[in-house]
Amino acid sequence: MATRRTPYRVHRVTGQFCERGREWMYRRTIRSRVRLESRLALSLATTIFAVFAVSDYNYLGLTREFYLLIAMRILVVSFCLFLAFAIGRWGGYARNVWLHALPLWVLATGIILIVPLRPETLSTQMVAVVVAIMAFYLLIPNLLTVVTAASFYLSIGFLTTATLAAALDPVEILRLALLLIMANLVGFFALLRVESLQRQQFALLHQERDHNRRLLREVAHRQSLEAQLRGLAERDALTGLNNRRHFMKRAQALLERSQSDKTPLSLFMIDVDHFKTVNDTWGHSHGDRVLTEIATACRESLRPKDVIGRFGGEEFVVALPDTCLDEARGVAERLRQTIAALSLEDTTHERPQTVTIGIAEAHAEETDLEALIKRADQALYVGKRAGRNRVELACKASAQH
Ligand code: GH3
Ligand code: MG
Ligand code: MG
Repeated sequence: MATRRTPYRVHRVTGQFCERGREWMYRRTIRSRVRLESRLALSLATTIFAVFAVSDYNYLGLTREFYLLIAMRILVVSFCLFLAFAIGRWGGYARNVWLHALPLWVLATGIILIVPLRPETLSTQMVAVVVAIMAFYLLIPNLLTVVTAASFYLSIGFLTTATLAAALDPVEILRLALLLIMANLVGFFALLRVESLQRQQFALLHQERDHNRRLLREVAHRQSLEAQLRGLAERDALTGLNNRRHFMKRAQALLERSQSDKTPLSLFMIDVDHFKTVNDTWGHSHGDRVLTEIATACRESLRPKDVIGRFGGEEFVVALPDTCLDEARGVAERLRQTIAALSLEDTTHERPQTVTIGIAEAHAEETDLEALIKRADQALYVGKRAGRNRVELACKASAQH
């Protein structure tokens, strides 16, 4: 609803939005409809005005007054039709309001000019003026202020010329004045109601759109929060890899699929060698950077379908679907060499950063991920005991370097 404090408040007398920008926005929105309706309404009004030439002929015959009336009607009709055309082309309803007002003033002048040329048919003309006032207010689209001014001009002009040309007595003048005032009042309040209702409808539509936009923004915001939360719940904050919990979930799914598809699956346990010494020598922040670099190396060396996780501390874990132990050994060996070749802020000149990798392959029918991890872990510790910087296979001979 357009209430008092909203920017959609409608003025009680003019029927327009109190806020100028809002009013212009509204007029721009209805511009094309107003142009079309103005053209149609003006064509209709001028046709009716032209048709009354028949009654001129009936009352006056081929007299001088008749020719003057015909000339006047032709002038009014042609000017109004030209204006209808102009409104169709240039009738911006926000700025060129005067262009929309002009036909009303031309028609009003035409109606007023009939009185001195046909003073004896004043009663018929009174009806015509009331109809014209109604048409001004309700048929030809215009702003209430514009219509009120043109209608007052028509009423006062008609009353004055009628008083002068038809020599009305004071009672008749009063009767005519009252009739015109009533017609104006009815027209004014009817149009005021229409103008206010149309603007309230516009306001409701826009408020609804604003709400929808806000709602969409809120939904997008919530979705992004949800994605962030999911990221926090699934990712390791330092390396961006899957955290242990999420890794277990994804690796379990891979293991089950490998069993149902009867495809091999291997698992790496990777442990950074002498990492405590790295921390002690270069500081914890440097240690963090080493872990990040190793995580990046894993991501870049392995396939997108391999699932990599940070198992904890300086230990990483990888599930490799469709990979048997032999293939896994090759992959692990490549990864070990890549990590050993990393240049980590020049600290590796003294001693390259190495990792030891333990590998285990899932047995046929194996669904216990913990058991698979345990076997890879045991292989890892065999590798550690054998001197580190190695790849060790569970239950098989280790790859020596
Ligand atoms: P090994 O070759 O036997 O694996 O020796 P290590 O020194 O790597 O093994 P140890 O388990 O003694 O040390 C692991 C160290 O890793 C201890 C711990 O402070 C460090 N660490 C664990 N998590 C982080 C981390 O997030 N950042 C850093 N900078 N250090 C970490
Ligand atoms: Mg460790
Ligand atoms: Mg270690």
